[in-house]
Amino acid sequence: MNGNDAVAQQAGEVLVGNYRPQPITIVRGEGCHLFDAEGRRYLDLMGGIATAALGHCHPKLTAALEAQAHQLWHVSNLYTTRPQVELAQRIVQHCFAERVFFCNSGAEANEAALKLARRWQRDRGEDRFEIIAFEGGFHGRTLFTLSATGTPAYWQGFEPLVPGIYHARYGDVTGVEALLSEHTAAIIVEPVQGEGGVRPAPRGFLSELRRLADENGCLLIFDEVQTGLGRTGPLFAHQSSDVTPDVMTLAKALGGGIPIGAMCTRERFARALVPGTHASTFGGNPLAAACASAVLDELTQGGVLAHAQQMGEYLGKRLAELAARLGTERVSEARGAGLLRALELPGPAATIVDRCRERGVLVIQAGPNVLRLAPPLVITSEQIDEGVETIESVLTAQ
Ligand SMILES: *Cc1c(COP(=O)(O)O)cnc(C)c1O
Repeated sequence: MNGNDAVAQQAGEVLVGNYRPQPITIVRGEGCHLFDAEGRRYLDLMGGIATAALGHCHPKLTAALEAQAHQLWHVSNLYTTRPQVELAQRIVQHCFAERVFFCNSGAEANEAALKLARRWQRDRGEDRFEIIAFEGGFHGRTLFTLSATGTPAYWQGFEPLVPGIYHARYGDVTGVEALLSEHTAAIIVEPVQGEGGVRPAPRGFLSELRRLADENGCLLIFDEVQTGLGRTGPLFAHQSSDVTPDVMTLAKALGGGIPIGAMCTRERFARALVPGTHASTFGGNPLAAACASAVLDELTQGGVLAHAQQMGEYLGKRLAELAARLGTERVSEARGAGLLRALELPGPAATIVDRCRERGVLVIQAGPNVLRLAPPLVITSEQIDEGVETIESVLTAQ
């Protein structure tokens, strides 16, 4: 039995079987490459699901983490800690937000956002508790965020769900209008649907949602858990439009691979969460916060954001050319933004993922027929060429 299979067998004996891992065990990462238990090298075009923004074991992140590891690990939010404050300062400096709440994951960030919306409405004496979300949207696996998630397969068997949550078709302004009422607390939407197939919001959709939210008196929440931190081009995806949300949630790439989430909002909404209303033991943990500050510094001052924008355009161009070359019987559509890209295929994407891995390139799915690419933002054009050529050879062999 080889090293990969040996670990997989042990995993099957002790782990809950809620995942279906691919048949390799990853033991090491460096930049845009990963290495399995047999020492085989892979080009990483999935970045830990859009999380390893600076690649694997980036020296600046390792240094930030190590420095903090010698200083302070954890004391909880019963005390103020400097790394958390410094990270919040960086976030508010770069977007509309004036206040930040830290947690540990995307689901928790959205949970906080949805709870904030309800609480803020209640504090104003409004009977507003309903949430409008979208088909194909993904917001996490806690019961509230699962209920907001717009794919029934994720909820089945977990009912009853949180009541008062309704789904409109993504891009359907009239559908949202029909769901809005004097009970609506918030609209939650991804600027680009990630898990739901890498679908960018149709032109003008986000600004229509802004208008509807303002007219109705409900909050507008942008779930930027996947799109944030330069993934689609700008530091935050909504910054490529003229629309500003009331709340923005972050996680995935924020810590560059260390678990951390954030719920970012304006001071007037943040006021609803007075002491005792919401909390997280690990939220803003010094190790995670120090690492996330290093991520933001690399993006905004280290030139990574500008590099990612160039590489995003390049990848988009390469995939569009590939789709044109192979035709619709092999690729139905190439779409996405920045370094969050997808090829919609006429058939199942799972076999393509397997064939690519066998040829040394790691890609993932976003739904049954969608091949998703979310490489580290530090990827080079040569690595993009290598990855796209491998994908093309696999699709051509089908
Ligand atoms: C991944 C994701 C989440 C959930 O994040 P977790 O850290 O897995 O809880 C929520 N929203 C979006 C848009 C995501 O892509």
